Amino acid sequence: MTGTIIFRNAFLIDGNGGDPSADAIVVVLDGTIKEVISYGKGTKIPKGRVIDLKGKTLMPGLIDAHVHPGNIELTTKETATLPPAVYVHRATKNLETDIDLGFTTLRDAAGLDLGFRAAIDQGLIRGPRLLLSVSPLTQTGGDPGNGRFGRAETMPRNSIGVFPEICDGQDEVRKAARKSLGRGADQIKIFADGEVASQSESDKAKPGQWKFTVEEIRAAVETAEAAGTYVMAHAYSPRAIQNCLAAGVRSIEHGNLMDAETAEMMSKEGAYYVPTLTTYDVLAKEARETLDAYTLEKLEIVLHKGQHALELAYRAGVKIGSGSDIIGPFQYLKGREFIFKAEVMTPMEAIVSATRTNAELIGMSDRLGTLEPGKLADLIVVDGNPLEDLALFEQGLERVVLVMREGRIVKDIIKAF
Ligand SMILES: [Zn+2]
Repeated sequence: MTGTIIFRNAFLIDGNGGDPSADAIVVVLDGTIKEVISYGKGTKIPKGRVIDLKGKTLMPGLIDAHVHPGNIELTTKETATLPPAVYVHRATKNLETDIDLGFTTLRDAAGLDLGFRAAIDQGLIRGPRLLLSVSPLTQTGGDPGNGRFGRAETMPRNSIGVFPEICDGQDEVRKAARKSLGRGADQIKIFADGEVASQSESDKAKPGQWKFTVEEIRAAVETAEAAGTYVMAHAYSPRAIQNCLAAGVRSIEHGNLMDAETAEMMSKEGAYYVPTLTTYDVLAKEARETLDAYTLEKLEIVLHKGQHALELAYRAGVKIGSGSDIIGPFQYLKGREFIFKAEVMTPMEAIVSATRTNAELIGMSDRLGTLEPGKLADLIVVDGNPLEDLALFEQGLERVVLVMREGRIVKDIIKAF
């Protein structure tokens, strides 16, 4: 029970993509949005705690549909050798940073185990709502975790990070998917293509090299559907994406090497596309010095291709969600994704992709994604107008001044302004 909280004088972006309201009142009661009122002459202000937002924007809590707060270092090996206490504290810091940036829901694309969700839900740490992938599915000779350091099972693991399930053939894929679900996965993550940031030295593991067969992917999809969920697939090349579409994958991640034909197919199948533009930019700019030559070579295959893929998908009418995919120490830069999106989409469409569309993608559009009566009170206040200045999301630690999750204020620096 949080009592009635009234936000007034709000510049309101409700997440539906329509024109913002210049002067709105939003009433929150016991974790949900009770009323959204356009202020006019004679409007009665309900009773309760009033928060005045003059000059600020009120909008839905952001959703990042592709994150790795548990990938503490740039490589799986470095993360795996962290002492458990260090790993837990650094992952916790990432989750706290995410909520302070205004992300009230994260879809973890593998790395976190269910302990983090429990710690947040029990109020032990501050953090967003977590939808977990737990153990991602990959194949013999595939990524990540194979190659230079041997199979995933033999990698150094002083840490408690989550490792991939290596599976070949429909039976093993089914078993691996069930194991991941048994460990608390909300959705199944598969690697349908090679990877940039992995330890594999095999040429067959480069981005653009398709992996699982349609039958193997279908086994994962069926297993997920039997559990009431779906598959999200790491895929770069047209063939990898097409394999995923043929098997019924709901969420295509990255997609940098997409072509026009594949974009049309995605649109026709109704699949969601989660381009992850920030991670490649961060790797190329902030992390370049620390990457080895082979990783840089792989990065080059997909770097700068993401914008074109987004354009193709946008033109084909694909449902476009939003993910940042940052690994390692630069997770606080995730708001940069909006700026890249807006090179192709309008600023409002970029915001909708990280709110309403992401809520649909994760199957929570009845509770999240827009500010409407009856929905959960996940909302944020930003200092300024994001439609004119999307960079404020990259400066979210200072410029996202209030964060509410299910009616509870988890960040409030309004008074500092
Ligand atoms: Zn990822």
